[in-house]
Amino acid sequence: MADIIQLLPDHVANQIAAGEVVQRPASVVKELLENAIDAKATFIKLLVKEAGKTLIQVIDDGVGMSDTDARLSFERHATSKIKSAEDLFLLNTKGFRGEALASIAAIAHVELKTKQDSQEVGTCIVIEGSQVTSQEVVVTPKGTSIAVKNLFFNIPARRNFLKSNAVELRHIIDEFHRVVLAHPNIGFALYHNGSELFNLPVSNYRQRIVNVFGNKTNEKLVPVDETTEIVKISGFVGKPEYSKKTRGEQYFFVNDRFIKSAYLNHAIAAAYQGLLKEGYHATYFLYLEVNPQSIDINIHPTKTEIKFDDEQTLYAILRSAVKHSLGQFNIAPVLDFERDSNLDTAYNTTKVHHPKVEVDRGFNPFSAEKQTIANNAPTHKNSFKKEPSAQWESLYVGLESKSNDTANQFSAVEFESEPEKISIYNETVKDEITYSTYQLNNKYIISTIKSGMLLIDQNKAHQRVLYEDFLKHITVKEAMSQQLLFPLVLHFSKQDIEVIKQLKQDLEYTGFIFQAITKESVEITGVPVSVPESEVSILLEQLVSDVENEVPDANFSVTDLIAKSLAKSLSIKNGQKLNHTEQEHLVNSLFACKEPAISPSNRNTFITMTVDELDKKFV
Ligand code: ADP
Ligand code: MG
Repeated sequence: MADIIQLLPDHVANQIAAGEVVQRPASVVKELLENAIDAKATFIKLLVKEAGKTLIQVIDDGVGMSDTDARLSFERHATSKIKSAEDLFLLNTKGFRGEALASIAAIAHVELKTKQDSQEVGTCIVIEGSQVTSQEVVVTPKGTSIAVKNLFFNIPARRNFLKSNAVELRHIIDEFHRVVLAHPNIGFALYHNGSELFNLPVSNYRQRIVNVFGNKTNEKLVPVDETTEIVKISGFVGKPEYSKKTRGEQYFFVNDRFIKSAYLNHAIAAAYQGLLKEGYHATYFLYLEVNPQSIDINIHPTKTEIKFDDEQTLYAILRSAVKHSLGQFNIAPVLDFERDSNLDTAYNTTKVHHPKVEVDRGFNPFSAEKQTIANNAPTHKNSFKKEPSAQWESLYVGLESKSNDTANQFSAVEFESEPEKISIYNETVKDEITYSTYQLNNKYIISTIKSGMLLIDQNKAHQRVLYEDFLKHITVKEAMSQQLLFPLVLHFSKQDIEVIKQLKQDLEYTGFIFQAITKESVEITGVPVSVPESEVSILLEQLVSDVENEVPDANFSVTDLIAKSLAKSLSIKNGQKLNHTEQEHLVNSLFACKEPAISPSNRNTFITMTVDELDKKFV
């Protein structure tokens, strides 16, 4: 019988290896960021499009590569980081397998530009599915830029297996967090579809954590510091009252590398014993330094698992270090979460106020007017206790059924109230009132309700809010106008002028003031408070075209159309980043609407998912 064993061609071997290294866009992000760190970059920029499905680009200002190295870097087992197997035990670089670039190049379109400091010009290499299609000289700054396009273009099964952009982006951000938290001495920026999600300057560990997770994080952190012969532990754990129901912010780093360890996690949980409510998880950012010879990071290709020589001792040290910190910062006695937090300090001598939620229905985050929202925030800084406010919750009346006339339905959709205390020293009290909203993909706002999860489409929700607002103003024939400093003269076709004349009265009820309407122009001296002056002409053009295109039928109502059109033009668009206050405000305003569940064009403004439904997805 003839011989049947053959050596696999390199590109096939690379594709198979790629399966291990690259599971999803986030894996590429991790490999490229790590390479940039190994190259001693001081600033690393990550650009991502469509959650990495179309582009992942990492630009660093590190040492770069010579033209020969640039070509070699895509070969399998090509690495500058180890020379022999012994080096593995002295490792202080992230990479060492020499597999990442070869694997990535096997399953994507890759463009590498790189230049060393000493070189006049750099090298640009284009590779598609392991085939080098060009290598030429380029002018490029010192450092390396690697763009990975169309991931899995030649493995449709893998490409189809990718999750939605929202999910893949979440994975990328998680990976980004793991890297940036381990390296505060390096600046990082992350852009998604052109918008900046993070810009993190060089700083220290604490500041980096705060820059990533928000200013509020600062006061939640308790430092941990312990040096023993076998390990040096530093970092922070979260105060128990800020613990979360999700395991989100739990980070272990060993020698600057993010690792997962159920065993060490257990050590932390043991340190918190008696301090956390059932089902809550501690937050931690812990940095362990150990002798590289005492660990084996080689046990998993993606290197998030690690084997310690003396795990049991490590467990004991870690637990006591964390316990010690919690105790030292006087956190240990805090056992009763239900107790009255007024008794906490001597400062609470005045009456406790509840936060007031003011509903600004003309809210438009584009307009400068939004400043006034913050001014509505409670000013009683000295005695502030967060409780589920009755006003707040009553806004959610009728969430599940469309009728909002009975208040007793709201038990089903009560907001989850987390045991959260407000620092009496904090200046920005409003910022502290978190109703746990989260913006996803600059498009959806996620919030928790008692029965589960609420997912709001920000654009459709805001259309609903504005629509009801305009409709109300038109119906009650009163509206707030803002006077323009200089009258605005807009030119229209004769036909359009006719339409505007028809709409004039209703438009005036929304807040427009028309000084004159001639054959070809309108002169406007006042606009609704929610309308920025720069938007007026686009807005009227859109309105006129909406009216002209609407087939007048039995349901045709000019007022309705104006309200819909203005709402559409002025609403927060998808892709618009909203800060916490804006998110909360939108949620507030939506549930103050008569019909919060549907947009003016009859689409859902939100969906809910109950815990039961979620549970079912995990069986
Ligand atoms: P590894 O990181 O395991 O060595 P990779 O495939 O990730 O393997 O990279 C191969 C080699 O290419 C690295 O060892 C390094 O010499 C070089 N390299 C990769 N990325 C960069 C970069 N951003 N800057 C400089 N050199 C790089
Ligand atoms: Mg690498």
